[in-house]
Amino acid sequence: MKAHDGLYIDGAWRPAEGRDEIEVVNPADEQIVARVPAGGALDVDTAVRAARSALAAWAATAPAERAACLTALRDVLVARKDEIAETVTTELGSPLAFSQAVHVAVPIAVAGSYAELAATHSFQERVGNSTVLHEPIGVVGAITPWNYPLHQIVAKVAPALAAGCTVVLKPAENTPLTAQLFAEAVYEAGVPAGVFNLVTGFGPVAGQALAEHPGVDLVSFTGSTAVGKQIGAVAGGAVKKVALELGGKSANVILPSADLAQAVNVGVANVMSNSGQTCSAWTRMLVHRDQYDEAVELAAGAAAKYGERIGPVVSAKQQARVRGYIEKGIAEGARLVAGGPQPPRPRGYFVSPTVFADVTPGMTIAQEEIFGPVLSLLRYQDEEEALRIANGTVYGLAGAVWAGEEAEAVAFARRMDTGQVDINGGRFNPLAPFGGYKQSGVGRELGAHGLAEYLQTKSLQF
Ligand code: NAD
Repeated sequence: MKAHDGLYIDGAWRPAEGRDEIEVVNPADEQIVARVPAGGALDVDTAVRAARSALAAWAATAPAERAACLTALRDVLVARKDEIAETVTTELGSPLAFSQAVHVAVPIAVAGSYAELAATHSFQERVGNSTVLHEPIGVVGAITPWNYPLHQIVAKVAPALAAGCTVVLKPAENTPLTAQLFAEAVYEAGVPAGVFNLVTGFGPVAGQALAEHPGVDLVSFTGSTAVGKQIGAVAGGAVKKVALELGGKSANVILPSADLAQAVNVGVANVMSNSGQTCSAWTRMLVHRDQYDEAVELAAGAAAKYGERIGPVVSAKQQARVRGYIEKGIAEGARLVAGGPQPPRPRGYFVSPTVFADVTPGMTIAQEEIFGPVLSLLRYQDEEEALRIANGTVYGLAGAVWAGEEAEAVAFARRMDTGQVDINGGRFNPLAPFGGYKQSGVGRELGAHGLAEYLQTKSLQF
């Protein structure tokens, strides 16, 4: 597969200082499809300097000009959507139809939303005898994961550019080709040199160098809670702003008045989607004890229908990790009703869609993020117990509530310690803030709330 052998810094592809490389593997057949440079601390430094040099001019552009750049960027992503979908499929393994419908379509919607917000957002307001200015925070270090390769990039770079910030991106090592295509799109869209820079590389080398760099004003990180804590500590020590989008263990609460079959089917689809590699996935399904057996049967049937339709997980490491959790679920006494630890195919990093019944809140599979196609069904006696279970993890990223009446679901959702709740299914809204309570993170992405992360305020008194 086509790949650049350089890093995109200051508007051009240039060789990395060292010779380290990342091997990009297709998870569906385990073949190496490309090699890209693995940048180091020197490359990160060059990129941060380029971003710093470009900052003053970019920050001074009129919002309408930044909006025009983002519109152009959105248009390039639209024009190249087939190529992007094929690239995501090659390095992530997701089925092509899913890459087109989600991995490409969602970031296009997000880029479009920031083109509009850049033009309409009020970067200045009047408060009594003061004028409050919302100014770009400066140079952004963006570190992204592989699970939604383009979306994770656009959800950081689009608001940063809209705000007037400049960016150095360190994308996940598993999916650098999508990041390279994004850099091409930025160039084609006419974004000035140095405003966006790309350093592909490994987390503990390039990622850490970026997080620690004194020339970075804001570190925006999406990934595991373990790495997020390290980055938060580094940023805190340097009194540097940080935005963290971390893991989740979201609850799908099915109240007795809900349409059970619909709630279970949509719930299973939510977990199996992207082979379970979604931080906001509803991995715990909470069902009233009177409906529990029926729900288990429905969920097992729905999971079996997925069969081989879901793609592999991203890597051998991830496959082994998910397998380990499935084995742990069995060992701790959960009842396997679909799937299991055995890989369904000899080649490729596939995992069978797996469903566990008789899961209790204290089990490892009910507490830890698995990041694979594994659903746990938990039983509750009354609403208070459902709420205790729903809120009983260290995470609080997303969730769902189903009920006969919307108002009943909303009343329950208000008591959940979580950043986003889908009511009776919900629909993706690129303008709605996304982010975590508790250890799921700090800050919000998307919409005006996401834009605000990249701004700092100054007040002028008259
Ligand atoms: P990860 O934390 O290992 O990697 C994420 C990014 O951080 C990658 O670019 C990686 O190279 C980089 N990184 C790794 N170690 C680093 C270090 N020491 N310093 C700086 N950067 C470093 O996560 P992963 O395993 O690649 O991704 C899966 C995890 O991400 C899951 O736990 C999932 O919940 C989480 N996630 C969260 C969200 C969200 O929006 N909340 C979205 C996607 C994924």
